[in-house]
Amino acid sequence: MEVFMPSAAKPRTAARRAPALDFTSGWDYSRAPESVRPDIRKEYGLFINGRWQSAKSGKTFATINPATEETIAQVADGGAEDVDEAVQAARRAYDLVWSKMSGADRGKYLYRIARILQEKARELAVLETMNGGKPIKESRDMDLPLASSHFFYYAGWADKLAYAFPGRDPQPLGVAGQIIPWNFPLLMAAWKIAPALACGNTVVLKPAETTPLTALHLAQIFQEAGLPDGVVNIVPGGRETGAALVQHPGVDKLAFTGSTAVGKWIAKTVAPTGKRLTLELGGKAANILFADAPIDQAVEGIVTGIYFNQGHVCCAGSRLLVEESIADTVMRKLRDRIRTLRVGDPLDKNTDIGAINSRHQLGKIKELVAAGVAEGADLYQSDCALPKRGFFYPPSFFTGVTASHRIAREEIFGPVLSVMTFRTPDEAVERANNTCYGLSAGVWTDKGSRIFEISSKLKAGVIWANTYNKFDPVSPFGGYKESGFGREGGMHGLYPYVAV
Ligand code: NAD
Repeated sequence: MEVFMPSAAKPRTAARRAPALDFTSGWDYSRAPESVRPDIRKEYGLFINGRWQSAKSGKTFATINPATEETIAQVADGGAEDVDEAVQAARRAYDLVWSKMSGADRGKYLYRIARILQEKARELAVLETMNGGKPIKESRDMDLPLASSHFFYYAGWADKLAYAFPGRDPQPLGVAGQIIPWNFPLLMAAWKIAPALACGNTVVLKPAETTPLTALHLAQIFQEAGLPDGVVNIVPGGRETGAALVQHPGVDKLAFTGSTAVGKWIAKTVAPTGKRLTLELGGKAANILFADAPIDQAVEGIVTGIYFNQGHVCCAGSRLLVEESIADTVMRKLRDRIRTLRVGDPLDKNTDIGAINSRHQLGKIKELVAAGVAEGADLYQSDCALPKRGFFYPPSFFTGVTASHRIAREEIFGPVLSVMTFRTPDEAVERANNTCYGLSAGVWTDKGSRIFEISSKLKAGVIWANTYNKFDPVSPFGGYKESGFGREGGMHGLYPYVAV
């Protein structure tokens, strides 16, 4: 495909630039395109009560590949009536089948789903990359293994809930409405569906409008696994579809992952209803780098923290706080490192940074970068060539950032890092906590005692030490402050789905 040929580098913003990589010398990686092709239908319906159906309105929307801007498929656009039908199906399945089933039997279904996910991992990874834009090496090595391991993990809990809540009698809540974003479409579906089912609830899931496809293929897996009709219903659509689910009186529990603005609206809407709610919202994590840290290892961690998945990660290490005495060295190493990151075809196994998820998101990134330049911060961008079609953004970082700059306060949700310095540990903690968010943080130092001291003072739900963006189904994940409340993953991830 010609679209990913390097193009002549064009100035994109008033940035200080790295010397261009020499693509003319003939020294470059050969392309290594992923050869697996998933079986993609031209049209997808809503998955309600174990069957595929059109939206009552007959409406559909096109879902595209953000790396090529080509339409992949047409997807049924669920409306309020469809949501109502899905909630009713979930209620029937709850009353008649799922809540009556033993934990051991529920667990068998979850194990079966986990195993089919493993069998289809390669195709689903390609589909995730095509629909979302993330590099194949990430969807193949992270999203898919983690999605199946969440089903395995919660399958194990299904018949052991009494051990998770000793001395109590945990009961399912009923119908769970779940709304997920576009950055980890299949993984977020697994994070939400697996614990809900393990605890005996049934589900209506709404995937994000730009990335519905892997959730719909997950529905095919539910059919293959013989999951009883109505236990999981999947209704793609946009914000109206999500709002209909939030406002539906038949939903007992809501789980939302997405932006803080929408999360606040949901919290207000749900407050008078008595529905249970968990919110996983935005973040502006600080990665704190002390002078005694192994610097090369830390630079790799910083790169993983912000450039992984194009920075489309709520827990991305989007602020780097570096001890002043090593700032120049770290900036030099970071510049050298990001020049080597390969931006382009997400289906190429060599690609480090794939496509931005949508034109809208690319616009948001550009707007915030322009604000950073206008407010006086210094922008450094890799001068890598970007594909001519599709939505791409080069790895970038700002120095000379102050706490009042928008790029220090607002979530950019793109491959853009804001660097600040500190002189004392107390200053580092104060700067790290100086945000309305509290989802994650990182600490880099060779002193174990300092890791414990600093992490105990950071107001963040997840803190990584000498690593970043590591996930495991056993570890709970969630935030403080405007990053939301409730935990997903681990034993803690069972609590939001039971009454005890
Ligand atoms: P978004 O809030 O606009 O959309 C998220 C989901 O909510 C989508 O499915 C969308 O259709 C739906 N939605 C939108 N408006 C709604 C409404 N009024 N009622 C019900 N549903 C509605 O966010 P986005 O732009 O799709 O995703 C990016 C944001 O998500 C970022 O801010 C990011 O930090 C956050 N995020 C957080 C986590 C986490 O675990 N904390 C994970 C991923 C993304």
